[in-house]
Amino acid sequence: MNEFELIQRYFTRPSSQAVLGVGDDAAIVRPSPGHDLHISTDMLVEGRHFFTDVAAKALGYKTLAVNLSDMAAMGAVPRWVLLAASLPRLDEAWLAGFADGFFELADSCKVALIGGDTTCGPLTLSVTILGETPTGKALRRDAAQLGDDIWVSGDLGLAAMAVRSRLGQLPALPTSLQQAAWRKLEYPSPRLALGQALLGVAHAAADVSDGLLADLRHIASASALGAEVWCAALPSLPEVEAERGRWLPCLAAGGDDYELVFTAPVHVRQAIEQCGLRAGCRVSRIGQMVADSGVRLLADDGTEIHLESSGYDHFA
Ligand code: ADP
Ligand code: MG
Repeated sequence: MNEFELIQRYFTRPSSQAVLGVGDDAAIVRPSPGHDLHISTDMLVEGRHFFTDVAAKALGYKTLAVNLSDMAAMGAVPRWVLLAASLPRLDEAWLAGFADGFFELADSCKVALIGGDTTCGPLTLSVTILGETPTGKALRRDAAQLGDDIWVSGDLGLAAMAVRSRLGQLPALPTSLQQAAWRKLEYPSPRLALGQALLGVAHAAADVSDGLLADLRHIASASALGAEVWCAALPSLPEVEAERGRWLPCLAAGGDDYELVFTAPVHVRQAIEQCGLRAGCRVSRIGQMVADSGVRLLADDGTEIHLESSGYDHFA
């Protein structure tokens, strides 16, 4: 099998989403009238973003999921993706598994793979995604307002627990937690329905990829505000609640959660709860945007909690 047969067999699927998909020098798409086009890229590198022994299907799924999460954070409807793959060898069983995970998620989110690039080299996957929001309506990081509530979707910290226990930085997890943590690490659910429901309701949003405090800091600094986060309000599973102190670094600063952190005015609290219900995910109010700069994590008595690290940084 050569490069072109590989592309044809594993990465070419019929789709009505594009004017012209895989196979020509460029794909052609036709954005919806009255919409802004969103474009974003995320790259996954072996040993850096995933363990070398990860199942091909999980990797295919996650390669797309992390990109969908960026669209969710903008409130955008994802429509088209391109996949650039550097592969160490032509392994058909691996390719079939990878394509299976990738297209399972692509089909369920109605996004079309319209092109890409395939080379031989160290295992690296990069997806470029395109999506749409009604003109001028996107959830940007720079739109938080003073006094906004801060909200987060889902449960925090599970993916970081999986990574840190695997690396021996945390003791082995109890079985039920172990399963939930690995599921979250390998098959995160991009919060697309929630992001879209929040358009016109929330002010600003980001997805939690580097860690809650780190991603919230992006919203705060882009909006020229500060943020206070109440430690006791950070949502997690009941098993985690039982030993909250021990897991706090994962909850507040663990990466790879792919939840949404967002801000909204106080008078829309009920509407936000409704958005969560409609999207089928928990939403928790965890803090408030304040006038000074920086992000502070507060204990029940109002004192600040200092963590060793507030999030992931590739070059720190
Ligand atoms: P070119 O030589 O013009 O760059 P390529 O040989 O790289 O074209 O790719 C041929 C076609 O296959 C193009 O339409 C490209 O978008 C598509 N393609 C290449 N790799 C992938 C991939 N991994 N997934 C989807 N489409 C791909
Ligand atoms: Mg090419």
